Amino acid sequence: MVADGMVTASTIGLWLSHAQDELTAEADHLSALDAALGDGDHGTNMRRGFRAVGAALAGHPRASSPGELLMLAGKTILATVGGASGALWGLALRRAGRVLGDGSEVEGLALANALDAMVDAVMELGQASAGDKTMLDALIPAASAFREAFEATGSLEVAGAAAARAARAGADATAHMEARKGRASFMGARSLGHQDPSANSTAIVFASLARALATPVNGIDVDHAT
Ligand code: ADP
Ligand code: MG
Repeated sequence: MVADGMVTASTIGLWLSHAQDELTAEADHLSALDAALGDGDHGTNMRRGFRAVGAALAGHPRASSPGELLMLAGKTILATVGGASGALWGLALRRAGRVLGDGSEVEGLALANALDAMVDAVMELGQASAGDKTMLDALIPAASAFREAFEATGSLEVAGAAAARAARAGADATAHMEARKGRASFMGARSLGHQDPSANSTAIVFASLARALATPVNGIDVDHAT
């Protein structure tokens, strides 16, 4: 078992910044997925929300805790994104931040708990379950793959990569599901063959987390390293 450190505010900042870059790059694709099932704004919603998160973090003191950064991200998304995904992502990130607490760095298992709290928040607010063709179909497998891989290896990097793979596979699988929540539910069986947009943005957010956890900054304050 290889232990590879703690989750720091630098790592969380890197996660959110990669998510901003990757959601911005994929915004047109995400909106095209939403155009097939809904109203075509999912990419612009996510881009707007995570850009605002980037701006909020830039104006925030560097000495924040991981939990505080996620709470700020959630609050910012709630304030800037009107769609279903704004409320869902906003609450999920705020709950994750609350679970991490205000320690300046947290254990890998606390991050696993925070990812589970995201699942609980989305289920509670949206009243959807696995198989309803929503972001949960990427989020649930990602959170459980993270925990399983972390418990097996003690490695944040391995756990992040496992979560990203599970989220991607979950998003792909939504093509075979019928939508039961949100605007896409009005399409019924016609939603088959199309991937859910927010399951895809979730896969992107987990790919960003994996990148951040693979960056060797854990335990080091990169802001002050030369
Ligand atoms: P809107 O639907 O308001 O236009 P977005 O386009 O940003 O907002 O988000 C659409 C995404 O939200 C879809 O991928 C859909 O699966 C997801 N979604 C909608 N309702 C729910 C819900 N109750 N639970 C989980 N995800 C949901
Ligand atoms: Mg939409």
